[in-house]
Amino acid sequence: MVTHNWENSFNHLLAAVVSDALSECSFNLAAKLLEEDCSFVCDILAQRGRLDDTYWICAFAVNQHISICHSNPCDRDPITNQLHPICTCSSVNISDPDGRDTSSEINKFDDMMYHLATTEGCRQVIAVDQSLGLFNRAWCVAEIAEARRLQMKQSLQLPSKVTLMRRAHTLGNLDVRSMRASADADKELILHKISTSTSIDEFNAELQSLIFDPRSGLLSSWCAMDSLQQAGEVGRLIRWGLADAGTGKVWKVWEANE
Ligand SMILES: [Zn+2]
Repeated sequence: MVTHNWENSFNHLLAAVVSDALSECSFNLAAKLLEEDCSFVCDILAQRGRLDDTYWICAFAVNQHISICHSNPCDRDPITNQLHPICTCSSVNISDPDGRDTSSEINKFDDMMYHLATTEGCRQVIAVDQSLGLFNRAWCVAEIAEARRLQMKQSLQLPSKVTLMRRAHTLGNLDVRSMRASADADKELILHKISTSTSIDEFNAELQSLIFDPRSGLLSSWCAMDSLQQAGEVGRLIRWGLADAGTGKVWKVWEANE
């Protein structure tokens, strides 16, 4: 199960998935290689026997379109600033104001999390964006907390260690009350859900330890994995480099990256 925020670029989301499949913990190299040559990345995944791995990504698995189809009150193209054209497809809108419509796919958070957590071998991959904005998105944090509660294995995918160094200070005062969601109703729902089992302050404190705890926190596990990979950097690059059939693609991208 991939937890991601929608502001993240598609390339970085995909790179995080590829990188996880290849047992890497930073996805910069994968992102550059995807830009350079997608089919090469497919070849590496095939060689490592990971091409048939399954990742659950809400953007593909959940039909969110039927909650917004046939209208566009405010969504603008970031380049031209024009309102996006209104979709004319044949889907039937589900408005679901109280979040109980059985035909809606976007009100099944608890069921979905439980199903994934009890599916054999299912882990949570947290695809973190360049600005670490994921940790300020209410749904992402709700997914991370729920996955932890359900004892799912969790791991972070970060662009690089540099990203973490530059941005880690932004994680110091995370407060679920000031996090953002696309809809205010969603945020209220999340806060309400939290407050049925604990206080918001306690939740914030748990979130801090979930991220920063020196033994079991997400960041310390990531750092341990990262230094292991730094130690084996050359061997790792040779493995990647061998896959490019002598074209030097991996080395070129790696050098540009440095
Ligand atoms: Zn439509």
